[in-house]
Amino acid sequence: MTTSRGPEGHDLPRTAGTRTTLRVIGVVLLLAGLVIGGLGVRGFIADAQSTSVDADFGPILMMAAGGFLCVFGLAALNAGTIGAQARYAAGETMPTLKQSAAYLSDGEGIMGVGRTVDDGPHGAEGSRGAAVTGPYCRSCGVRNDEDARFCDGCGASLA
Ligand SMILES: [Zn+2]
Repeated sequence: MTTSRGPEGHDLPRTAGTRTTLRVIGVVLLLAGLVIGGLGVRGFIADAQSTSVDADFGPILMMAAGGFLCVFGLAALNAGTIGAQARYAAGETMPTLKQSAAYLSDGEGIMGVGRTVDDGPHGAEGSRGAAVTGPYCRSCGVRNDEDARFCDGCGASLA
C-alpha cells in the first residue's frame, strides 16, 4: 500500500480500515461493557447480601455504564458490518438496476441511468446526411454536400 494508485484506489483501503477500526472498537466496548457490567452485578449482589443500610449506587452505575458500553459496542459493530453490506449490495444491485433501466427505456436510460444509445446526430440532420453547408439545388431545392457535383435529390448538375 505505497503509491501508484488512483484516487479511488486510495479511498477503498481507507474505508475498509475504518470498518475494521469500528469492529475493533465495537469488540473492545462490548468486552469492557461486559466486564464493567459484571463487576457492577457482583457489587450489587454483594450489596444486597450485606446488611449495610446505606444504599450504594456504585454497582448500579457500573451496571448502567456497562450496559451503555455494550450498546455502543454493538452499534460500532453494526456500523462496521452494515458498511460492508451496503457496499456489497450497491455493487451487486447497481449493474442490474442499470440494465433494467436500459431495458425499460429502450436504451435511452432513466434520468441518465442505463443509457446505452450513442448521442449521435439526431433530428435536423437525419441518417440521410443532408448537408447544412452545401448549396441548394436550383432544380429541386434539395440541399447538398458542399463538395457535391450533382444534386442528391434529382441528379442535376450543381456546377
Ligand atoms: Zn435537385
